Amino acid sequence: MTSQFERLRRMIWEGLGNLTRYCGGKHRQRQRGAANGSRRSFLRTAPGLLGLGCAVAPTFVGAQETPPEEKRTSSQRWEELSASDLVKALEQTSLVYVPIGTLEFHGAHLPLGTDAIHSYELCLAAAKRTGGVVLPATHWSPHGHEGWAGSLLVREETFRALLTDVFTLLCEQGVKFIVACTGHYPAKQEPAIRKIADEVVQRFPETRFLVLGPWCHPTDPSADHGGKKETALMLSLRPALVHMERLSGPEAMRGISASAVDGTAQFGKDYFSAEVDNFVNKVNEARQPT
Ligand SMILES: [Zn+2]
Repeated sequence: MTSQFERLRRMIWEGLGNLTRYCGGKHRQRQRGAANGSRRSFLRTAPGLLGLGCAVAPTFVGAQETPPEEKRTSSQRWEELSASDLVKALEQTSLVYVPIGTLEFHGAHLPLGTDAIHSYELCLAAAKRTGGVVLPATHWSPHGHEGWAGSLLVREETFRALLTDVFTLLCEQGVKFIVACTGHYPAKQEPAIRKIADEVVQRFPETRFLVLGPWCHPTDPSADHGGKKETALMLSLRPALVHMERLSGPEAMRGISASAVDGTAQFGKDYFSAEVDNFVNKVNEARQPT
């Protein structure tokens, strides 16, 4: 019995010794690796977890191995900010942009989320000038080319509930000015959003709303669908997502305007720039004290 106990004790003791030596070796390797910028290894924390002598404080080692990126405390994008940085941004300018689009067929050449991309980029460009913060774009909408490939249209009540919640939550956080911006066909989607905003503002009269689309070019504000303007805008804003080579043959123009072939990145850049100027003017006008 005694010899069995003694054998067991020796096995444990030797095992620990081996493991400690192993960790020590890895620890030295890791120190050399750290100097070479190598990735962290499991063994950095394992000895610490095991309570062994070769443990090294993980945070210290991690900080050595991966140089931290430059810290950012400001961003126009709500989801990138910490809570305290968001509070600071809204203390400076109590303005939140809510970009809205839809998911609908936009021809063979444009992304399905074209409308939200357009409104999101416009809101970001505007926020750079006005201050404030931009929410992530929502693509969920009941409006669009129903039944076409890629169109995902939710029910009207889903849309109403979603925007009612978003607007209400922003009001509850004390936001004083909300700009809801829809990139989808303004004649249909803007009145729907305005109605929702009007209902919310009844409960939060301290908050003001502006419902506006990005289609606010000073001399040519009409929207098109997958035509020259939308194609040009996407060529300017997200060129990697546009496939002009698909615009040939009789089937290519189904569901869009034939003028798509005339879209160019330069036209889109100029058009977008004029939209931003006018949009910012409208936001600033609306923010004037009444
Ligand atoms: Zn569109």
